[in-house]
This record gives sequence, C-alpha cells and structure tokens, in this order.
Amino acid sequence: MKKILALIIGVLLIYLVYYLQKPYVYSSVDPISEINPLILVNSENAFPDNVNLNLVSFDGYQVADTIYNDLVDMYNAALDDNVTLKINNAYRSKDEQTQIFESKMKAYENEGYTKEKAYEQTKLTVQVPGYSEHETGLAIDFSSEGHYDENEKMWKWLKNNAYKYGFILRYPEDKYEITKIDYEPWHYRYVGKKAAKDITNKNLTLEEYLGGNV
Ligand SMILES: [Zn+2]
Repeated sequence: MKKILALIIGVLLIYLVYYLQKPYVYSSVDPISEINPLILVNSENAFPDNVNLNLVSFDGYQVADTIYNDLVDMYNAALDDNVTLKINNAYRSKDEQTQIFESKMKAYENEGYTKEKAYEQTKLTVQVPGYSEHETGLAIDFSSEGHYDENEKMWKWLKNNAYKYGFILRYPEDKYEITKIDYEPWHYRYVGKKAAKDITNKNLTLEEYLGGNV
C-alpha cells in the first residue's frame, strides 16, 4: 500500500515539475488582417495607410494576427531545442516610428549637425516613418539586450529553422546593395511558408524574390 502511495506521489511530483516547466500555452487565432504577407516595405516602398491590420499580443508585443499561429509554433519548436526566442521589438505604429526618428535626429542636431545632415545620418540606422517593416506587424526583432551568448544561440537557431514557420532573415549579410540595410541577424520577417522556404534555400532577399516572381 505504501509503495503504491509513494508511486502515486512520485508520479504527481513528476507531473507537477513538468507542468511548472511548461511554458504558457498560446491558443490559435483566426486571422482577420487584410495584409498580404508578401508586401514589400523598404526605403522605396511605403506601407500603405489603408491596410487593415488586426494586432494581437504575443509575449508582451503586438504582431499582426496573420503571423500569430506560425509564431507560436516557431516559439515552441525553439523551446524544444532549449532556445528561448526573446522578442525585443515587433509592431510599431507610424507615430512611434516618427518619435524614434525625430529623437535620433534631434540628438544629431544637438551634436551640431544641420537639419539636413541630421536627417541623412538618422536615415542610416532608423527607417523613415512609413517605410519601416515594423509598421506591418509582420516583422520581429529577436534579441536579448546585453546577452551575447543567448543572442548567438537564438540567431543560429532562427537562421536554420525560421523558414519552416514562414519567417525569413530579412537583411542578410552581403545584401546591402539590395536591401539598403546592413546585416541584421535579429530582424525576421513573416512572408508565409512557401516563400520563406524558397527565399532561404536560394539565399535571396525579399526584393529579389518578388523581382523574379511578380
Ligand atoms: Zn527590426
């Protein structure tokens, strides 16, 4: 009898430990956003104001509902490989982008740059409001600030696996001439599974992929 009781308690304890370690389970959503996952937003193509976006919350950040289910699957798959995908940035409204742009520009002006020079300098690291992929709700920055090892692990996992869930490394190395943005190992963009697979396997950028597919 004692043995059986011990066994039951043992099983319960194991279950409890397992349960406590289990991350929050996300339930799936039915997307209603009217955004094309292949939309091109870059320094020459603004994000149109009339796209109806439905934002949902994931891990404290807002994303377009279109990417939610695949993002959850990716997050869980990474966890299974002992990698926690930490989000540092996701959806940003045009107003927020404007604030970021203006404060950076002000900082340059305070350093003595003319308005024109400050604008040009800011453009090198911050997208002009209306032209940031973060406004689409389809882009996510994965990084854990100040944790180099964690970031390396995360970025390596993403590079190898993100396409399976519809995400691409949006600004790869050696593609500056095309994307006009330096290598960003943390910035991933949702394009859907088929395009993500093609883009990743052929080592393309979204610009190249659309150029050959439109
Ligand atoms: Zn980003």
